[in-house]
Amino acid sequence: MRELFPFLPPQGPIPPEFHTECGDGPFVKCGVCAEELALRVGYSIVKEHRWDRCIFEFAICFDCSDDLSGCLSEDSEAKLREWFGHSELGGASDACTFCGVEAATLERLSTRIICRGDDWIAGPEVCCGDCEATIESLLSKETKGDYEDWFKEHIPGLPTSDIDLEALLTRL
Ligand SMILES: [Zn+2]
Ligand SMILES: [Zn+2]
Repeated sequence: MRELFPFLPPQGPIPPEFHTECGDGPFVKCGVCAEELALRVGYSIVKEHRWDRCIFEFAICFDCSDDLSGCLSEDSEAKLREWFGHSELGGASDACTFCGVEAATLERLSTRIICRGDDWIAGPEVCCGDCEATIESLLSKETKGDYEDWFKEHIPGLPTSDIDLEALLTRL
């Protein structure tokens, strides 16, 4: 998808549910490098919900998510590739993209879209708590440690205890 990214047509403006909860309108800056998102090649917006309440939100540019993917060990990457390859990627926003469980029945779920400039390009991808736990279980100990270091260095002040950040950001 990333190779095709520059050629993908816009789906429309960024949906209001992916605007920031801490302001009025879309995200403006990357949560890691603080560069203006509109000037980057592309970026992801992720939100984690408990029922209908957003408990975590984050915007990250492609350069920063590539930097984070550098933390993946070969072993973890191979396992993830296999798992993502087998999962049914659907475009429905009302069900988990990976296992198809209905979103309305879930206490916890995370969502993600991919944007370019002011446009929504792909997604939403929805991930249920069970699939997050599966993703997390595919990561090697080494990768988890490297991720933790990366988070501490680049996103200080993250509420790491309550959120499966590794699983959330692995999908970027
Ligand atoms: Zn960035
Ligand atoms: Zn699922």
